[in-house]
Amino acid sequence: MQIKTARRLLMFFMIVAVALALIGLIFLEPGTVISVYVTLISFGCMVAAIIILLGYCKCPWCGKRITANLMKAEYCPHCKKDFETGLKHKGRR
Ligand SMILES: [Zn+2]
Repeated sequence: MQIKTARRLLMFFMIVAVALALIGLIFLEPGTVISVYVTLISFGCMVAAIIILLGYCKCPWCGKRITANLMKAEYCPHCKKDFETGLKHKGRR
């Protein structure tokens, strides 16, 4: 999986998980069947987000995990290679 795809999926699952958790807390009565389902789906999305974070948010060139600046990084903080082109990133902006 491409890191940009992984990043988008990660965002998607996190937003869905948080949104469902909020909906469950604000609009649904605790103990009802639907609130149990919403909680379960929210939990499932959170687990999926963690799996993507741990399993796929890695540099395609050196294989190290990207943690700092994950959502914005264009190049790897370890080997400084661009995620898409593999070209070395020169200096800092
Ligand atoms: Zn790297």
